[in-house]
Amino acid sequence: MKRIAVLTSGGDAPGMNAAIRAVVRTGISKGWEVFGIRQGYAGCMTGDIIPLGARDVGGIIQQGGTILGSARCPAFTTEDGRRQAIRALRQHNIEGLVVIGGNGSQTGSYELHKMGFPVVGVASTIDNDLYGSEITIGVDTALNIALEAIDRLKVTASSHQRAFLIEVMGRHCGYLALMAGIAGGAEAIVIPEAELPPDKVADEIQEAYERGKKHGIVVVAEGARYNAEKLEAYFKENEEQLGFDLRVTKLGHVQRGGEPLAFDRILATRIGAGAVHALERGETGKLAGLNNGDITLTPLDEVVANKKSLNPELIELAGILAK
Ligand code: ADP
Repeated sequence: MKRIAVLTSGGDAPGMNAAIRAVVRTGISKGWEVFGIRQGYAGCMTGDIIPLGARDVGGIIQQGGTILGSARCPAFTTEDGRRQAIRALRQHNIEGLVVIGGNGSQTGSYELHKMGFPVVGVASTIDNDLYGSEITIGVDTALNIALEAIDRLKVTASSHQRAFLIEVMGRHCGYLALMAGIAGGAEAIVIPEAELPPDKVADEIQEAYERGKKHGIVVVAEGARYNAEKLEAYFKENEEQLGFDLRVTKLGHVQRGGEPLAFDRILATRIGAGAVHALERGETGKLAGLNNGDITLTPLDEVVANKKSLNPELIELAGILAK
């Protein structure tokens, strides 16, 4: 292999730049030419491909977001769209592709693989909902941002005997909310994997106050059925009877843009380099990720066919420690 390309796709995650840097410099160390594709699969289809040298990726390891830009590209989900992308890659004599992204993006790379193009995925999403990597690039930084918000809200909550609800991202996966709740010492955690109806959330806070706690912190995953809106409405309706009110903070995209912390920089560097080694060995159609401390390659058909589940022990632990 002599010419490879790298793209970032889907939701941006802190550490994507560190992964780009690792792909570029590992490729160069093998004597290859490395190219960057702008705006994810959209740039792949239009041939928006630029050469990337070692200096072009200097000073980016500490930057959030992605220097290549990312996009959601519905046209790529069609076979015609993917044919166009493969044509553009071949026109640029690109022999292998590294796709840095989450679930949707890796479904896209699996489709490219099935059409015969050599591709390796890099597990990157703050949601941690990607099968094939115990933890994905961006999760740790996003978690720390959520945690900082929880710690601050706890201080205010303790001063006012006021309950606070913090909604964190994660799409349909409760990982971020669960871990933020455990690390932040939340009184109640509401996630799609363990739903808690509004009256039970109110009970948890009420009981916490009765046990002498000064604060009531509820962490809710954006994908939960009893989401922030529903919980807020319930607490508003029953405020008088409950004797306390609930204030809602939605962290939203604030969680995405942070500068990657050490864990994500190192994880992204290792997985990015691992993806290039895999291309060299011809181990394509796989997702590079982290499992049991090692960089592993999981076939993309397994990645798209499986759903990552939350460890039930962690859910139980959160319940015990909230008391
Ligand atoms: P993420 O990778 O963060 O989960 P998305 O779900 O938005 O982000 O997916 C990113 C892009 O991946 C989509 O805009 C689309 O171009 C591509 N993609 C998603 N699903 C498929 C699919 N089933 N087939 C081909 N490409 C897909």
